Amino acid sequence: MPATRTLDELKDGLAPSDRMPLVFLGHGSPMNAIEDTEFSRAWTALGTALPRPRAILVVSAHWMTNGTTLVDVSAMPRTIHDFYGFPEALFQQDYPAPGNPDLAREVVTLLASHHAQEDDSWGLDHGAWTVLKFLYPEADLPVFQVSIDMGRGLAHQLEVGRTLSELRDLGVLILGSGNVVHNLRRVNWAPNSTPHDFALDFDALFAARLSDRNVAALADRESLGELLSLAHPTVDHYMPALTIAGASDARDDLTFMTDKIDLGSVSMRSFVFHAS
Ligand code: ZN
Repeated sequence: MPATRTLDELKDGLAPSDRMPLVFLGHGSPMNAIEDTEFSRAWTALGTALPRPRAILVVSAHWMTNGTTLVDVSAMPRTIHDFYGFPEALFQQDYPAPGNPDLAREVVTLLASHHAQEDDSWGLDHGAWTVLKFLYPEADLPVFQVSIDMGRGLAHQLEVGRTLSELRDLGVLILGSGNVVHNLRRVNWAPNSTPHDFALDFDALFAARLSDRNVAALADRESLGELLSLAHPTVDHYMPALTIAGASDARDDLTFMTDKIDLGSVSMRSFVFHAS
């Protein structure tokens, strides 16, 4: 079975490779963007371990489409503050990275069989910029988002990842941003709240299947059963994890990081695939 490493081992051992790693980050609350948390510290540490990519392609839980996969081809994607009821300091945040219209148009072509189309109206939603500001704080690398087609199901998102995976050899970092468990109806805002059993169980099931590289099983609703609907009343935050799983292959090692259940029902489990 391929190796599973810790973040510390990753920092020490991330071999220079022409093939870019794949990253999935559990982003959780937008407040992580402006607070010093164990998660924001882990994202900073990961940023120092990752190679500098040619560009970053982000699949965020917060850009959902239906019947099409949109690719942002804008030259300067705007920072989107897509949340309500948070402090003004969060609305002042800006991540002024450039886009990469030429590469984004190549991705539209690459994803033609997934009904891809150009878009120039989106930008960077908080699933993207709240983590990018820690990974690459200079905001000097080109970034663009690819939407999630919510109309085609879980297995389709694995296929999108598989199709995107060839970009790894072109120096593109593919970043998924969502949460392995995300049930806002069951959130407990009390500090250090006890995780719900369903959150622990789904998180463990996901981690086991990913460790076994049983990627197809991550999209198998029948075997995920009721746990899936408890962990994800809607699957938007699950989809980016499937994109990244789908882009991985047998040559990759797997590193888990920040595997805590936050707020009782939000898994902050994050992971990196990297060529061994
Ligand atoms: Zn979110």
